[in-house]
Amino acid sequence: MKVTRVRPHLLSVPLPRPIRTAIHDISAVDTVFVEVETDAGAVGMGYCFAFGRHRARALHALVEDLIPIYQGQDPHAARALFDSAWRSINFLGHAGVAVMALAPLDTACWDLAAQDAGLPLFRFLGGTRERVPAYASSGLWLDYSVDQLVSEARSFLAQGHRAMKMRLGRSPKEDIERVRLVREAIGPDVKLLADVNQGWNEATAIRVGRELEPFNLFWLEEPLPYENLEGCARVAAALATPIATGETDYGPLAMKRHLELRAADILMPDLQRMGGITGFLNAATLCEAFHTPVSSHLFMEASCHLLAAAPNGLILEHMAWWQELFEDGLRLVDGHVLLPDKPGIGLGLNRKALERFRV
Ligand SMILES: [Mg+2]
Repeated sequence: MKVTRVRPHLLSVPLPRPIRTAIHDISAVDTVFVEVETDAGAVGMGYCFAFGRHRARALHALVEDLIPIYQGQDPHAARALFDSAWRSINFLGHAGVAVMALAPLDTACWDLAAQDAGLPLFRFLGGTRERVPAYASSGLWLDYSVDQLVSEARSFLAQGHRAMKMRLGRSPKEDIERVRLVREAIGPDVKLLADVNQGWNEATAIRVGRELEPFNLFWLEEPLPYENLEGCARVAAALATPIATGETDYGPLAMKRHLELRAADILMPDLQRMGGITGFLNAATLCEAFHTPVSSHLFMEASCHLLAAAPNGLILEHMAWWQELFEDGLRLVDGHVLLPDKPGIGLGLNRKALERFRV
C-alpha cells in the first residue's frame, strides 16, 4: 500500500454555543482535517486544530510542508515516517504548530494500517477492551449560571454519562460553592472532575484544593500554568485529590519530565501535541513504566482506541465538538464509550458536513 495523495481541508467547525474557561473564549474550532489516500483505495483520516482562522492556516501550511515525507510511502511504516518527520521539524522545534501538523498525518497512517489488517484500531494495537469509561466534557463551562450548571449536569446523566467535568477559575468562594452544588445534584456515585485550565497559582491551588477535598473530585486538572511542573508536583503532594495534567505539553519526552518530577497523579497527553498516535503510544508506555494512569485530551474518535489498547488507560474525555464530521457517532452506554467494530478508526467521514464547514 502506498500513499497516493494527501488532502488537508481547512474547516471552521462551529460550536453549539460559545464557551468560556479560565483562558478561552471560543465560538468555533478552526480545524485542518486531513485525508490520506492510497493506491489500495483506502482513505485514512486525522485532524488538528487551533482557535483562530489564521492559526489554522499556519497549521494547514505545516501539514502541506510535511506531505512529501508521506507521499509514495507505505502507511504501515508509521513509526519510521514519524521519525523522519520528527527529525525534519527539528529547526522549527519539537513543539507548537510543527508537532500539531504532524499529528493528522501520523494518525491517518495508523488508521490505514489497521484498515488494511481488517481490524478496529484498538485491536490492531493489541487491545481487547470493547468499551472504555468516559466523562462528559462538552459543558459545565465557567460562564454558566448555577442553574445552567445543575441542569446540564442532570442532562449529562440522562444521556448515560456516569462522569463529568466542570470548569473552575472564578473566585475561590464561587468555585467551591459551584462544586458543592453540582456534587449535590449528581449524588455521591457519579465521578466529578474539575478543570482549572491553568488558572491558579501554587498557594491558591493548595488552599482551594484542600477546601474541595470533601467533594471527592475524581481529579483536579491543570491547577497551575502548564510549564510549572515543580509547582504542580508540590500541589499533587499536598492534596489527597488526584491531580491530572499534561494536555498542553508537547511530545512524549515532555511526559517523561512530568513523570520524573511526579508532577501529577494522572497524565493526559493530547493527541495533536504528541504528534499523533505514534507519540501518544510512546507517552502511554512511559506512563505505564512509571505506574501512572493515562487519560486523553479531545480527539475522542482516535483516543478511545488508544485508551482501549493501553493497559493503563483510565478514562476518555468525551468532547462532542467534531461529532458532525463523522457518519457514525461514538455510542455511549452506562458511562462507557463502545469501541467501533469497523476497521481502522471506524467512524466514516460525513462529506456533507466537511463541505459545510469548509473555509
Ligand atoms: Mg483541560
